[in-house]
Amino acid sequence: MEWTPLASSSSKTQSPPLPPPPSSGVIMSPCGACKTLRRRCVNNCLLAPYFPPTDLFKFSIAHRVFGASNIMKLLQELPESQRADAVSSIVYESNARIKDPVYGCTGIIYQLHKEVTELQAELAKTQAQLVSMQCMQTMDTSQSQQQNPPYDNSGFSFDGSNVGLAWEHPWT
Ligand SMILES: [Zn+2]
Repeated sequence: MEWTPLASSSSKTQSPPLPPPPSSGVIMSPCGACKTLRRRCVNNCLLAPYFPPTDLFKFSIAHRVFGASNIMKLLQELPESQRADAVSSIVYESNARIKDPVYGCTGIIYQLHKEVTELQAELAKTQAQLVSMQCMQTMDTSQSQQQNPPYDNSGFSFDGSNVGLAWEHPWT
């Protein structure tokens, strides 16, 4: 199960998922929603573009959590350009709610928030260690300079920017 909410709006090279064009004289099979609800699918069925008859699970899971009338009400309140994304999020939320009846999507969001916080703390710790190592390096270099003064220090001023020279040759 993959939810790509931006796919329909951002990818301009790909053609948007459209229902198969109605061909005259052929009796249209009901959409996935109407098939699940065992009702007649009308020509301008609101749900047909988003619930194909080939994927009945998509509607049944959304119907189980949100209810068909709520889904239709939700879609009616949205401009047509946003309805596909709304259906994606409804289906995603429904799947999450079935898997985790207590937290649903919030469980996933909470887990990701926790991971972000932990990684930020780890990053701050590593950055602090790096600064402390750079400080130690600076102290070591200035101490060795005091003990063994360089044979030629004309024009040389140690301002910390030369720390990198101890680690790598500038010519390589
Ligand atoms: Zn329908």
